[in-house]
Amino acid sequence: MIKNVSKILLFITIFVIIFPINADAKTLGQLKQEYNELEKRYSDTNNSLKATDSQISSAKTRVQSIYGELDAANKEIQNINSEISRLNSEILKKDKELKDLMRFFQVSDGESTYLEYIFSADSITDFIYRVSVTEQLSNYNDKLIDDMHSMIKQNNENIVKIHKKEEDLKALQKELSEKLVVLAQERKALDDDCASIKDEIKDMKSILNFYQKNGCKDNEDISTCARGQIPPGTKFWRPTESGFMQSKWNKDPMPGGGYRYHAGVDISNSGGTKIYSISDGIVVKTNSNYTPGVGYGKYIVIQHNINGKVYTSLYGHLSGINVSQGSIVTKDTVIGYMGNTGHSFGDHLHLNICLGVKSCQSLSETVDPRDYINFPAHYTWYRDRTSYYQ
Ligand SMILES: [Zn+2]
Repeated sequence: MIKNVSKILLFITIFVIIFPINADAKTLGQLKQEYNELEKRYSDTNNSLKATDSQISSAKTRVQSIYGELDAANKEIQNINSEISRLNSEILKKDKELKDLMRFFQVSDGESTYLEYIFSADSITDFIYRVSVTEQLSNYNDKLIDDMHSMIKQNNENIVKIHKKEEDLKALQKELSEKLVVLAQERKALDDDCASIKDEIKDMKSILNFYQKNGCKDNEDISTCARGQIPPGTKFWRPTESGFMQSKWNKDPMPGGGYRYHAGVDISNSGGTKIYSISDGIVVKTNSNYTPGVGYGKYIVIQHNINGKVYTSLYGHLSGINVSQGSIVTKDTVIGYMGNTGHSFGDHLHLNICLGVKSCQSLSETVDPRDYINFPAHYTWYRDRTSYYQ
């Protein structure tokens, strides 16, 4: 039993020596898992995009039908208006007819003349007839005019109703138009997401193929299983999760005026900030021996194979180094930590990029990192590792 325990302990010890425990270690299996998650994210984003598209299309259809409803409401208002004027002229006509009739009977002036007309009857029959005529005439006309006034009142209420409906439709139209603007923005963002995830999937697929081709197994650490090979990448990423663009490449303006020649860009942040490789690659040099106040201090040099072209990157003034010569890194590998070592006056990262296999230490070898990494303007902060999507 004791023998078995010591065997197990010995095995663990050997295992730890051969495979040092590394918090950033990643197996091929984990990489495959990440790849599957990325595909799931793409399909989710694509579904959201489709849902947004159908929302946009139904909002557009509704806006279209509102135009039709507004047209119909306008036509109804016009009809009601012409009905009102028709009734008004009818009222005037009836009123005039009555007055003419009264004039004919010569009783057009007040109640006493009605009486005069009635009492000038020459027989009781005529008297009854005259009473009945005047009553019927005025009652009939009064009723007619009352009816017309109530119709006009109804029409006016209809106009108010239709105007209200028109206002409601216009408000709805405005709301839908605003919603369409928001949906269009959401769609654009989702579309961008889809494009970038698609790009990441492509990138990761070629990385997976690289490790598989180089014999890596699912349970093996990808930083060691493909030793000696440069993994392929498709683009460069910012080297920290956040940073302030401190100094320019080449002619770097000095605070007191004038400028200095500078082989890379300086990105400042607090000491200990995680430094990531700007893309997949292989570590070709690490340097921990340095003289305070001289050179790049603790630094790392990495070679990359981006779309078939070789590049070299250098990360200077580090406080600590997490990788060793021959380590395979991805853009998510924390290679070291921001520091203030070497010729440095505060915590910052000095980053050089070179075309081809170079030591990548001097201005004559380097290119402007801005041309390869999506950095924001000089003297501004960035808050993510966004890359260029081409
Ligand atoms: Zn610098």
